[in-house]
Amino acid sequence: PGEQLPHDPTKKTLVVLGSGWGATSLLQKLDTTDYNVVISPRNYFLFTPLLPSVAVGTLNPHSIIQPTRYITRHKTRTVSVIEAAATDVDPIAKTVTFADESEIQGLVSSTTLKYDYLVYAVGAETQTFNIPGVKENACFMKELDDADLTHRRFLDCLESAAFPGQTSEEIDRLLHIVVVGGGPTGIELSGEVHDYLEEDLRNWYPELSSHIKISLVEALPSVLPMFSKKLIEYTESTFKEANIDILTKTMVKEIKDKSIVVQGPDGTKREIPCGMVVWAAGNTLRKVTKDLMAKLPEHQTNRRGLNVDDHLRLEGTSGSVFALGDCTATSYAPTAQVASQQGSYLARVFKLIARRDALSTELQQLESQGLLEGEKLKQKEDLVRQLEKVEKMKLFKYTHEGSLAYIGSEKAIADLPFGVGNLAIGGVATYLFWRSAYLSRLFSLRNRTLVASDWLKVRFFGRDVSRD
Ligand code: FAD
Ligand code: NAD
Repeated sequence: PGEQLPHDPTKKTLVVLGSGWGATSLLQKLDTTDYNVVISPRNYFLFTPLLPSVAVGTLNPHSIIQPTRYITRHKTRTVSVIEAAATDVDPIAKTVTFADESEIQGLVSSTTLKYDYLVYAVGAETQTFNIPGVKENACFMKELDDADLTHRRFLDCLESAAFPGQTSEEIDRLLHIVVVGGGPTGIELSGEVHDYLEEDLRNWYPELSSHIKISLVEALPSVLPMFSKKLIEYTESTFKEANIDILTKTMVKEIKDKSIVVQGPDGTKREIPCGMVVWAAGNTLRKVTKDLMAKLPEHQTNRRGLNVDDHLRLEGTSGSVFALGDCTATSYAPTAQVASQQGSYLARVFKLIARRDALSTELQQLESQGLLEGEKLKQKEDLVRQLEKVEKMKLFKYTHEGSLAYIGSEKAIADLPFGVGNLAIGGVATYLFWRSAYLSRLFSLRNRTLVASDWLKVRFFGRDVSRD
């Protein structure tokens, strides 16, 4: 289907699902001369580590995204980029069904493609635990639209609080911002909101500034369990100084229109009035992933995600499907670092697979000639030797480069591998390191320039408080 697909019958069709960390790092390094490549994404890559900065207007949304076509247009062979969501993957028939779920659709809005190899990198979605009111009343912090909605609601709370005649109690409610989840997303967002208040809103809304309150709610006994104890304490004391309340051992039970219901450490429930809630309570699997697992019931029984082997091959698919990133259940944390290393690894694997497939075809052609003798027999033995060598693909091995998080007030924390141990640092110098590390990690010079100039603009002119 679709003449636009790069069809060369001598080449295998590789379908890549996703345009996030895993798929993009694969695509960047993939040698497309070997394959017919098709992607099915959101049509851009989103640099998630800087998403909380978009939610407070420090960064422009377009500064942290890169169209997928920026990468594919530089490839040696055409790569088809299809903006659509995979709605069904059939690992037996080796097909993927796509649907255009965008606002504007053409006459054809759904199609099915056959693949030889599939790279499954659709990530995860925000976990709500089916807690009442989360979907209806909270903002998330996963996609660009989420950051945009958070920004708009935040400014709406301020403008409504500034409405003439508002009671003091109502101003307190409107200006109470609740962040749920003390993982890195919740912590970074709370820090960014605090900066926005301190650096800009105090000047713009001086009469409201004393009413503003940020609370972070976390079900576990501490925030940031993946960081070292020293850095957890440092974050807690930084938040205390910044007047951000951390409520640990507190579980959100319901989110209402104007309040949240929480259950505290002693088991009692209470209702806390608030203007808005940002929900950052972790990941869950997408429906398309759950459906795929249901099709492989013997091999896919892990509720955390897809089971893959050490070559990232999806269990139960005989090496035709590879899965990586947040949709998989591995011993690694669901991070961009892991997904991007897996993507680069798969680019190397596909180079070897192309070589293996070419050798196999050559061998089959030779064998189809019947009994082999002399030179032909030597040629066959040589091919078998080469094939054995190629078959020995290295396993995926993750190298942890450290964990970094921004905690607001121009301070960051970092747990960095150091020799056989770990170096735990926090403060303003770490914040400068955080900035330079993420600036250098952005995939293109264009993004680096845009982010650096956004930072400069905020430094000189402050953040924008207009609500679009
Ligand atoms: P994603 O990057 O989420 O990409 C999934 C892709 O699949 C997207 O392009 C999506 O549009 C596409 N897709 C979805 N559904 C379908 C479908 N049905 N069909 C086809 N395509 C589909 N990690 C770090 O290591 N360091 C950080 O500092 C960091 N900061 C973060 C900050 C925030 C706010 C968030 C939310 C996450 C952060 N992470 C960080 C985690 C990191 O973003 C994820 O681990 C990473 O994005 C996982 O990569 P992925 O490729 O598996 O999925
Ligand atoms: P997370 O899973 O790390 O944290 C979510 C937190 O929400 C948990 O601590 C959980 O106990 C809490 N929670 C869940 N339900 C709750 C409820 N009802 N009430 C109160 N608290 C509740 O999620 P995240 O922060 O979005 O991170 C997801 C992944 O992305 C992680 O692997 C993380 O390491 C990675 N990430 C990394 C960075 C970074 O390195 N700077 C930044 C963001 C995300």
